[in-house]
Amino acid sequence: MAKQVNFYPKHFEKIFLRWVENLKWDWCISRERYFGIPMPIFYCGDCNEVIMANVQDLPVDPRLSYKSQHCPKCLSKNIVPETNVLDTWFTASQTPDINGYWPMSMRTQAHDNISVWSFYSMVMGVIKHNNTVPWYELMTAGNLLVKKGEKISKKTGGGAYNPNNLIAEHGVDAIRYAMCQAKLGTDAYFEEENVARGKKLITKLINAYRLVLLNLDNNVSGDINSFDNFDESDKWILNKYGYTLKKVVSTINKYEGGLALQIIEDFFWKYFCDNYLEIAKQKLKSEDNNSKKSTKVTLRFLMFELIKLFGAYLPYIAEELYHSKLVAEELIIDGNNGFYQTNGEKSVHLLPLRKMEINFDKELDLSGELLISKISALRKIKFDSGKKFNEEIERIKIIDTKENIEKLKKFEVEMLTFSRANVITFERGKDAKTEMF
Ligand SMILES: [Zn+2]
Repeated sequence: MAKQVNFYPKHFEKIFLRWVENLKWDWCISRERYFGIPMPIFYCGDCNEVIMANVQDLPVDPRLSYKSQHCPKCLSKNIVPETNVLDTWFTASQTPDINGYWPMSMRTQAHDNISVWSFYSMVMGVIKHNNTVPWYELMTAGNLLVKKGEKISKKTGGGAYNPNNLIAEHGVDAIRYAMCQAKLGTDAYFEEENVARGKKLITKLINAYRLVLLNLDNNVSGDINSFDNFDESDKWILNKYGYTLKKVVSTINKYEGGLALQIIEDFFWKYFCDNYLEIAKQKLKSEDNNSKKSTKVTLRFLMFELIKLFGAYLPYIAEELYHSKLVAEELIIDGNNGFYQTNGEKSVHLLPLRKMEINFDKELDLSGELLISKISALRKIKFDSGKKFNEEIERIKIIDTKENIEKLKKFEVEMLTFSRANVITFERGKDAKTEMF
């Protein structure tokens, strides 16, 4: 039966099979304790007949209803209830039944359950469900450990890392972020640096959202299919996002939520914030209406999709941003600009991610990477010469290979607006260099 289940991560299948092959004992289904699911069984005190409760009367607790029973065999009223309850393993093995689905599509569990909970459920599939699997996929996670190798559990209350105290101090999203870093199936330490990283990400997300919201207007939608005259830099970032989204989806389909978060963050920090937003800021000031519109459509689309993507990891902040509550009070915004007003779904978590119909264009992507490297060179020479980032300059000269110059020429508008130069010239040369005049 285990062969019909997809194990995530894969190596847990071997661990499971090795355990099953070495089994040497049976389990008792009952247990002597008070709490637990009662067994609907009575016994006749005179002739020892075993009396099962009627199916239509279930659930039955024999300890409460034994006095109303009589023996069907000898008609004795001397009835003894079964006082043991079902053992936890027996109850747990039926969780798909309890949930109302057999089989379930997927179960999540920790690795210490690979030889217990998952095994018992499969046993129940054999004896009760005609050899059908309890679930098609088994996702096995690690435990979260405090530094000294002890897991954060209900029993210890987390010790120094008591979740309630941590949430009160750092906010629930930053804590959730820190806990989302683990690789599937592997134990992870709770790291305070990750909480700090989470807080930094939240601040960056709010700042990016504020910038985007301030520059949107009601006449421009974020529907990328309704616009077909994108600037090269917008095409580039949309292409990059399409590629990123594909990777995120395939990673999440393998239940690697931590790795998917890394992919989203990489796009957000390195491409969207550090470069695209900087280019977009300058383009929004330009006189060229098409260029402005291209930027606005792209900004609106990407910011909205990013809020949805981050929603799985930072659910509270994502919801606040969707409703524009965080910034609505401090900025004077037209009410129609927020994402909630235009999309109307009451929660961001109910919204699907938009599919990207774009086929990844590798050439365009490489050209964009080249643009980023030139932009950072421009930043550096401005900084080194003591000029302000926004200060106008006369001319920039880009020296590079013929092939690279052809790629960069497509981004002439972006490079001019970004550098605030009046003229840009290109020169062929073996040693790449950027100069400013
Ligand atoms: Zn009897």
